[in-house]
Amino acid sequence: MKLLNTVDSIRRELKKHKVRGKSIGFVPTMGALHEGHLRLIRQAAKENNIVVVSIFVNPIQFGPKEDLKKYPRTLKKDLAICRKFGVDFVFTPSVKEIYPNGFSTYVFVEGLSNILCGASRPGHFQGVATVVTKLLNIIQPVTLYLGQKDAQQAVIIKRMIVDLNIPVRIKIIPTVRRIDGLALSSRNKYLNNHESIDASVLSRALNLARVLIKNGARDSLRIISRMKQLILQKKAKIDYISIVDANNLSPLKVVSGDCLIVLAVRFGKVRLIDNVIIRIT
Ligand code: AMP
Repeated sequence: MKLLNTVDSIRRELKKHKVRGKSIGFVPTMGALHEGHLRLIRQAAKENNIVVVSIFVNPIQFGPKEDLKKYPRTLKKDLAICRKFGVDFVFTPSVKEIYPNGFSTYVFVEGLSNILCGASRPGHFQGVATVVTKLLNIIQPVTLYLGQKDAQQAVIIKRMIVDLNIPVRIKIIPTVRRIDGLALSSRNKYLNNHESIDASVLSRALNLARVLIKNGARDSLRIISRMKQLILQKKAKIDYISIVDANNLSPLKVVSGDCLIVLAVRFGKVRLIDNVIIRIT
């Protein structure tokens, strides 16, 4: 496994493999790797000759009051995990390498970026779309692996890839959960014991919605209200719960087609997101 931190060096290394016709699978991360990231890495390893993982805590996707400074950084451990799971290249650029002096070009996916998480995190998805565009230009993989955990991010990146004619396939990998249902996240580390137990209510609320829909419920407001009731039994603050079209994030008053139930909820200072896709046939 090679660890590289400049654009030139990773391009040079990958070129050697590309000219030999090797396929490259790419997993972008912010580090603090857990089983969720690993699922993406395993899938990439299964489907490609070469796996590239980037570890870059992208400053431009954090708001001024967000957790950029204290975002968990566990590089040594991350590298050991990557080595163990057969990653070929880890790309760990510095902030200066990605955003050198004078940097002034941003990617903004209209319509999808200021809603849901984008409403309470202005600038977040512009930061995500910009860094993913840059990383795709640097790595030029055959396939990009993203997690369903960040559902809005996945919809935005899919749109961006189509709109900007970026020549890459995209694979969305199902959310990996703790045994009690809590979606794995690097931010789970911030939860205290009590909050961590409480937070498992999110997956129960999503399951409740699934059961209600299975039993014939179609009115989104009613379903959301039942989810709220359940979540508010815990010490939680709901940022949003929405039922939207899974392909374009437009709100659905009546549940139909491929729908995505998304939520963001705070436990203490920690804001968690989760979602489920439900296909109505
Ligand atoms: P992050 O390091 O949080 O930026 O995440 C890097 C990638 O891992 C993103 O595509 C996430 O959607 C994905 N990911 C994070 N948590 C999970 C999880 N619990 N299950 C599946 N994928 C995940």
